[in-house]
Amino acid sequence: MESQTQYDSVNRIKDIMPHMPKIEHDIGVIDELEPKRLELASILQKTLEPKELITLFAQELGKYMPFDGMSYVFPPLNVSIELGQLSHNSCSYELLITDEKLGMVHLHRKIQFQERELGIAENMLAGLLYPLRNTLLYQLALQSATTDPLTGAKNRTAMDASIKREIGLANRHNTPLSFILFDLDHFKSINDQFGHLIGDQVLREVAKVGEDTIRDSDILFRYGGEEFLVLLSGTRISGATLLAERIRSNIERLHPFPDLDLRITASMGVVSLTGDETADSIFKRADNALYRAKHNGRNQVVIDDAE
Ligand code: GH3
Ligand code: MG
Ligand code: MG
Repeated sequence: MESQTQYDSVNRIKDIMPHMPKIEHDIGVIDELEPKRLELASILQKTLEPKELITLFAQELGKYMPFDGMSYVFPPLNVSIELGQLSHNSCSYELLITDEKLGMVHLHRKIQFQERELGIAENMLAGLLYPLRNTLLYQLALQSATTDPLTGAKNRTAMDASIKREIGLANRHNTPLSFILFDLDHFKSINDQFGHLIGDQVLREVAKVGEDTIRDSDILFRYGGEEFLVLLSGTRISGATLLAERIRSNIERLHPFPDLDLRITASMGVVSLTGDETADSIFKRADNALYRAKHNGRNQVVIDDAE
């Protein structure tokens, strides 16, 4: 069990800009920090990337108040950042602008924090609020522009950009890159028999199986109605084939509606990048392999090894 300072209860850093924060217990600290806060604001303007922002903030705070580590979490975007050592004593702050939640910051140190130091931390954290809100709003907008709202998988816009980026990286570093393309079998008849809402739920369940089966470094995209792609960087055709078979069998085992006689299966095409192949040509090969899986009777994986 971690021992904590007297500040172990959650402190709230609230909307106190554009005025200087009114931390009551140490007015001297505020005067001293005013130019530093302006400097901090200009430094934090440099990025809209959460980890970079928190790292810049930690570097600045560390100049005025030594600490061993800092963590920051913002669950709506799955942001969880840990810097340095998360040692014994900690103090926690919930960051808020009015009632808008901007996440939690925890500061850690082996030696207990002093009252005056916490005053510094609170002043500096107040300067983090608005740059942090800009960053989170930007990331939320980015997420909604690249995420399929039905399944939570990445969408077609994200897919096109990711394929181009991953092909570039694979060519530059001479590393393997594989695709699994899959399409639900007779999905139209699921809709026709059980209705669109059930069809939608099937799509959510299939996307969940996909997400649960792939590794963190793989990315699942829903690029069409009932059509998905898994992009596997650093993976050869053999590894991609094993994973495709696992996804296929996990989909086949899905029974989200035990009362309905509903069978869910998918056909899959697997390919790996060759030579100086383009995004279009590798996608076409994967689509051809998928077509063969359909043609051969569905609910199966077909590999195109480009020989
Ligand atoms: P095959 O095995 O050859 O792939 O047959 P299929 O019936 O799956 O293929 P087809 O492309 O004919 O049907 C796809 C269906 O997916 C048709 C369309 O109504 C349905 N669909 C597309 N998007 C959605 C969606 O968001 N929700 C639901 N419920 N259905 C969708
Ligand atoms: Mg289909
Ligand atoms: Mg289809």
